[in-house]
Amino acid sequence: MKITSATIAQYPIKAVAVVATPEATSSEACAIIFGMDAFDDLYAANAKFAQNFGGSELTGRAARGLAVVTCMDSRIDPLGLLGLKPGDAKILRNAGARVTDDVLRTLVLAVYVLGVERVLVMPHTDCGMAKVTDPDVHALTSARGVDTRSLEFHTVRDQSEALRHDLTRIRTSPFLPADMPVAGAIYDVRTGLLKPSDY
Ligand SMILES: [Zn+2]
Repeated sequence: MKITSATIAQYPIKAVAVVATPEATSSEACAIIFGMDAFDDLYAANAKFAQNFGGSELTGRAARGLAVVTCMDSRIDPLGLLGLKPGDAKILRNAGARVTDDVLRTLVLAVYVLGVERVLVMPHTDCGMAKVTDPDVHALTSARGVDTRSLEFHTVRDQSEALRHDLTRIRTSPFLPADMPVAGAIYDVRTGLLKPSDY
């Protein structure tokens, strides 16, 4: 399908994605036009959710005094696997469950403003961040014409060592209480079990 500005103007579109098929050359890229909003499914689901919401008396404080640092992996249900419910805990997620500067910043706010008194760092098995190196990611993005060398991805070479490092960052932070309980545990995405670390 040859896409021109006139073609696009025919559709009430909000997004256009151009993808290559095995048959298409780069100059004959195949275009897919989304005639509906790409987020309509979510808004529809939310409308149903809100019908049964019934209001909430919760505040923004962590009712169980807990913060969890975990990975963005889509297999992890932090509340479910820890027996928590909305309102109980602050959930901080990023690629690899790494304790970055921004996680530390967020923990300071969580502790001093939002009732957090303990922190669990929870990486997981089969983590994509443990399967690549920063140079690998730079090579992948470079192949797409994007230079990411100014970004640090905090990929994980040794998960145990990374967890030990991240726990130490929290425990030795001058901005967080020295006596605050900080634990690490690795979540097994196959069994659903947590394996507490000794660190
Ligand atoms: Zn992960």
